[in-house]
Amino acid sequence: MNQAPNVHDAEPIPAEARAEIDRLLQSGDLFRYTAPEDAPVALLEREFADLMGVKYALAVSSCSAALFLSLKALDLPRDARVLIPGFTFAAVPSSIIHADCVPVLCEVGEDYRIDLADFEARLDGGDISAILISHMRGHTSDMDAIMALAEARGLPVIEDAAHSLGTLWGGRKIGTIGQVGCFSFQSYKLVNAGEGGILVTDDAEIAARAVIMSGAYEHNWKKHKGPRGDNTAALEQAFGRWQNRLPLYNQRLSNLSAAVIRPQLPHVARRVRDGRRNHDHVAARLDRSPWIEVPAKLGPEERAPDSIQFNLTGMTPEQMRGFVEAAAARGVKVQVFGLSQDNARAYWNWQFLPEIPDLPRTRAMLMRACDVRLPARLTLAECDLIAEALLGVAEAVMEQAAA
Ligand SMILES: *Cc1c(COP(=O)(O)O)cnc(C)c1O
Repeated sequence: MNQAPNVHDAEPIPAEARAEIDRLLQSGDLFRYTAPEDAPVALLEREFADLMGVKYALAVSSCSAALFLSLKALDLPRDARVLIPGFTFAAVPSSIIHADCVPVLCEVGEDYRIDLADFEARLDGGDISAILISHMRGHTSDMDAIMALAEARGLPVIEDAAHSLGTLWGGRKIGTIGQVGCFSFQSYKLVNAGEGGILVTDDAEIAARAVIMSGAYEHNWKKHKGPRGDNTAALEQAFGRWQNRLPLYNQRLSNLSAAVIRPQLPHVARRVRDGRRNHDHVAARLDRSPWIEVPAKLGPEERAPDSIQFNLTGMTPEQMRGFVEAAAARGVKVQVFGLSQDNARAYWNWQFLPEIPDLPRTRAMLMRACDVRLPARLTLAECDLIAEALLGVAEAVMEQAAA
């Protein structure tokens, strides 16, 4: 039997990174604010902002730092309540707690998307000051409905697009729909620098506050510019207003990380295309199994996946455990979010929250939703090995049950 491919190794970093890294090692110029201009981090920010079609980008040490700074940049009062989906990564409620705010969780349906009725009820019943939409595993909720509900109440929206680089909603880039969008460069995301993150916004006030708090002490903010050819007065005035008035959290990115990230940006479109091809190929095969259901995306979404999620149907928890074990024996690592111990995406494990709500719909989804990595670099033949292993073990587990 063919062993399934390794899905954990990353794609090599483009060779062009080496010359720039050598130059940085020679000069020792690793700090973003040493050079008078055009430091690798500053160049990365301009290139990323242009790629996303936004005015401002701020590169920082992680997506969690970007989320934290976004909340701080919104100038929310202490203990402000921030609405998030109940299905996300533990780093998201953590960033809210780090920002001295309170996470409020809403229900997520079996298609991994926000339950809009519950979202709206909590928006109105929960004294909410801001909304943080986490596009978990790249699954996009109805952003038209969410933005309409937010705008009607004058609430800011932060997008956690850590895992959604390259995703489109109605032709618009995910991460540019809310007031701020945050992305990750951690190794399991589309662009890999080991660690790193970036926030994007068109709002000069948010950009200026986030830049200063990220660690642009004294007048280092002068090395942050708006788009080329743009009149940057709005940004400069905002910096002037906030000089010396904000804490410095020092969550900057190093030039070395920027040197690893920049040559990957031209590969984003290809990785998105290949990731989508791999996902859709495996999804179509799995969906034919009576024991597996792959929820459809919403109409306006064009995905950029590097993993696949699907729901097991008609299996007991014991049979699901058997499925996971048999898949592992064939070299395919499957996690059922709610069955794997201490999973950081199961909200009941976020015991650092002041209060853990009961979310029966989200819980039911987590108890049968599976997670399998499917990197863009896999060939279709390798994807077939994964699909065949999953189909085969589902069949075997359920035949055994019937016998
Ligand atoms: C990875 C991830 C994060 C955290 O990103 P870091 O850069 O590791 O802080 C947040 N949200 C989602 C949805 C993620 O996938």
